[in-house]
Amino acid sequence: MSSLPKTMKAVVIEKTGGTDVLQYKTDVPVPEPKGDEVLIKNEYIGINYIDTYFRSGVYSPPSFPYILGREGSGTIAAVGPNAPSDLTIGARVAYMGQSAYAEYTATTSHFVVTIPDSISTKIGAAAPLQAMTALTLIREAYAVQKGDWVLVTAAAGGVGLWLCQLLKAVGARTIATASTPEKRELAKQNGAEVLLEYHADDQDVFVKKVLEITGGEGVHAVFDSVGKDTFDSSLAVVRRKGTMVSFGNASGPVTGFALARLSAKNVKLLRTTLFNYIADREEFQQYAKELWGFIEKDGLNVKIHDIYPLEDIKRATEDIEGRKTTGKLLLKP
Ligand code: NDP
Repeated sequence: MSSLPKTMKAVVIEKTGGTDVLQYKTDVPVPEPKGDEVLIKNEYIGINYIDTYFRSGVYSPPSFPYILGREGSGTIAAVGPNAPSDLTIGARVAYMGQSAYAEYTATTSHFVVTIPDSISTKIGAAAPLQAMTALTLIREAYAVQKGDWVLVTAAAGGVGLWLCQLLKAVGARTIATASTPEKRELAKQNGAEVLLEYHADDQDVFVKKVLEITGGEGVHAVFDSVGKDTFDSSLAVVRRKGTMVSFGNASGPVTGFALARLSAKNVKLLRTTLFNYIADREEFQQYAKELWGFIEKDGLNVKIHDIYPLEDIKRATEDIEGRKTTGKLLLKP
């Protein structure tokens, strides 16, 4: 630790609220890695929609002051006494954890993985949450088969574009929804076969179109991250014995669901979180290996919306909350 600075730049919140609670500070203590932790000098930090939930209070930060951010990439600057031997100082790594909106992050080695030489540090920062969410969804939430019809909402977003690419790679047929023609075009470039508007004002139009596309059956699975605004229309287009996966709240949480509605088509309904598919080091390493394989062999890529200086966190946050972004937003400390 001796060659490391004592303080660093970081984005801190002391309470939940609007973007005005985001404080860019230059005198935050550099953390010391304890136990199995490693200290990472962040090269890029990934922004995720979930960061806005922790800032706004949809989800509760564990304590205050709290450094936001849940993923990044960079090099290991120091290791805790019980860190695994493959994580050595200087190794190029990607991670998911907490307190990533900073120059340095101390994080459990459970969710730290070395990045192969063929993969850029930018993809390293963009992949842990969004790509692994997409991968766990298609493998475990609903095990997608070749030829399956799958509906993806917010298809031009971070998770959405990974889903479009992965579904194409495994031979599924994707119906993508997004709010603008430009976003839908991007989903198409990333592998979606059919593009639709949400038709939030007229669910019947949406349902009719999906049924026409799928030969009257509906889709095998829906991966819905929009939540409140699209839940009903998504459920309406799942086929008999199909699977409805709700995994996000971008428009607000889904509440007050009557279980009996599922019996209309014997639909399987899940509300998933990545952290229950990837809960230990073994699962993280296994999914990272599979993901690096897709990136290397199938040419999966990430569309970087923008790389913002860390101090521009308010602008970046307003852009993602304002639906102005596509693909991945990165921060540069
Ligand atoms: P995105 O890049 O997808 O950004 C969110 C997108 O949601 C927007 O671009 C917008 O796309 C869409 N959206 C729909 N309604 C609204 C609204 N009212 N306000 C704002 N945006 C809206 O973010 P991420 O890729 O980081 O995350 C996507 C979703 O997946 C989020 O809901 C996130 O919480 C969830 N997620 C869940 C995980 C889990 O483990 N369960 C893990 C990772 C992400 P458009 O304009 O096209 O509608």
